[in-house]
Formats: sequence, structure tokens, C-alpha cells
Amino acid sequence: MKRPKGNILTTALQLATEHRERDDLDHTLVAVIFKGKRVVSFGHNDLASRKKLLPEFQKWHGSIHAEVMAINKAKRDLNGFEMIVLRVNKDGDFRMARPCKHCWRYIKYAGIKGAHYSIGDPENIVYERTP
Ligand SMILES: [Zn+2]
Repeated sequence: MKRPKGNILTTALQLATEHRERDDLDHTLVAVIFKGKRVVSFGHNDLASRKKLLPEFQKWHGSIHAEVMAINKAKRDLNGFEMIVLRVNKDGDFRMARPCKHCWRYIKYAGIKGAHYSIGDPENIVYERTP
């Protein structure tokens, strides 16, 4: 199995933990863009916009996705870069974090070659080439 090099996974996990504590969410989703051992950008699911909505609309997943935020924040050409996406629950367990179809399109548009993401399995990270 293809795994991110060096401390990429640790860095991503740290960011996820920090955001889980700060945002007090049931799940935190973070996306980290990297090449080799170098992290160039980071994003997290942002619910700020959702809080402004009327309560009846808050069940919708209308927030900015972590993958999109990470790509936007990078502000550079991301050709050949990779992404790692982690979803972590309150207990610190990994949950399924496969990018949605919209994010895959954006990942492809940015030139990122593939994404590593957590699955429900407590330890496991899988890799998928950008479709
Ligand atoms: Zn998405």
C-alpha cells in the first residue's frame, strides 16, 4: 500500500485533533496538500457559513469542503502534488473521508495526482489516483 512519506500522516492527524477540539464537532475533516515530505497547504470543513442559515437548512451539507479550502489556500500550481484527507470523530477514530465527486473534480482541476484518505477501519488509509 502506498503511504504518505515522513510525518505527513502525523501532521494531518495533529491538525485534525486541533480542529476537533476547537470546533467541538462530532466529526472533523481535514485535507493536507503535500509533495514528498513537504506540506504546502491545509484546509478543514468550515461550518461558519452554515451557522448563518435557518435551522431547517442546517442539515444540508452546504459548507465549504476541506479539500476545496486547502486548494484555495495553496494559491499555487499543484501539479504532481498529493492530498491526504482525514475524518476523525470525537474519540479520535478514523472515519470514511473519500472526497466527494465535486471535490474530485476540483482536485483534478488543480493538478493533484491523487488522494490518500481514511476509511472506517481505525488505522487504515487508502490511496486513490485522481480519476
Ligand atoms: Zn467534497
